[in-house]
Amino acid sequence: LESKLPNVGTTIFTVMSQLATEQQAINLGQGFPDFNPDPRLLDMVSKAMADGHNQYPPMPGIVALREEIASKVHKLYGANYDPLTEITVTSGATEALMATIQAFVRAGDEVVVIEPFYDLYLPAIELAGGIPVVVPMQAPDATHATYRVDWQRVRAAIGPATRMLMLNFPHNPTGIVMTEADLDALESIVQDTGVMLLSDEAYEHIVFDGNIHQSIARRELLAANAVVISSFGKTYHTTGWKIGYCCAPQALTAEIRKVHQFIVFTVPSPMQYALAHYMQDPKPYLGLSDFYQAKRDRLHAGLAKTRFQPLPSLGTFFLLARYDAISDLPEADFARWLTLEHGVAVIPVSAFYRQPDAPESNHRIVRFCFAKQDSTLDEAVARLARV
Ligand code: PMP
Ligand code: GLN
Repeated sequence: LESKLPNVGTTIFTVMSQLATEQQAINLGQGFPDFNPDPRLLDMVSKAMADGHNQYPPMPGIVALREEIASKVHKLYGANYDPLTEITVTSGATEALMATIQAFVRAGDEVVVIEPFYDLYLPAIELAGGIPVVVPMQAPDATHATYRVDWQRVRAAIGPATRMLMLNFPHNPTGIVMTEADLDALESIVQDTGVMLLSDEAYEHIVFDGNIHQSIARRELLAANAVVISSFGKTYHTTGWKIGYCCAPQALTAEIRKVHQFIVFTVPSPMQYALAHYMQDPKPYLGLSDFYQAKRDRLHAGLAKTRFQPLPSLGTFFLLARYDAISDLPEADFARWLTLEHGVAVIPVSAFYRQPDAPESNHRIVRFCFAKQDSTLDEAVARLARV
């Protein structure tokens, strides 16, 4: 059998979570909370079920939920998306990404991707017959504490064969965020090239240190040819529900729905009713950054007392740390060793590179997820202090 994806194995998140379970390690690898969502949200799901919302909801999502999404996006970013024709509820950000890529990328089209990147992007592009064009970020060095995107390099990668540019801010795994200057740079790229944007904003509500999320949806010029994606999993501590959404102009949404209707048709009804109700209150998503900032600070301070060297995290629920004072193993081997020998599972950052095993993809940095109870973080730090 000739594989369509010969270079793809099992996703690193599954590999590390399985290893963590086998080893009974503390799992700071795969990104998910180890605590429950708001009990009020859970009650709303039970109520939706008892009220009879147990059959197929509309293909693009229930209208009440799409209206709440439209109103939130308008309030936060000033954008106007028509809930009926421009917003689609999807099976997580994952399906929104996959449906969008399958809808627009043709065989031979180039898709510009910034490295490191979330592990779904390349296989999704390749399944569509597209050609990923990878633009590396600049790694942190003596003068720059965090990763940076060089927009000139991004601009240079865009040519006549480019179908779209993929973006992901707040960024998994580096934790960097968009600034207004980044939006300006993007605007000039879009003005020059007219390139379509696919903006994965799964962590839109997790931005630290008083900064605000610079969504693509804030700029009309960018939003006019963009698909903006988010995930309720990250926002409401419900990664297992697999619900997200995408916002895009009508002509783009129509194409995305042609694919969405034949991947999953729609997503679970009771959760959609519950989310539509729960979203009316902005406090949970407005408070999320503070909630996670305290956890970031806790893990950062804890790691700073170990031989790991934490890097700044400006958004998401991830923090990177260098381990070169401990080992010179490649990152995947180090992550495995740490899980087996010290009972803490992490994600090798090299998994977010096109060639995970190449020396240039291995900077001796691993990713920690801090979407965990304080007691979990404290126990992990106690173990890491012994490394
Ligand atoms: N994009 C990024 C950058 C992510 O980190 C994740 C998952 N954590 C996803 C997409 C997928 O989101 P979902 O679980 O909603 O499918
Ligand atoms: N996005 C999550 C992470 O980066 C994982 C989601 C998944 O396992 N599919 O850890």
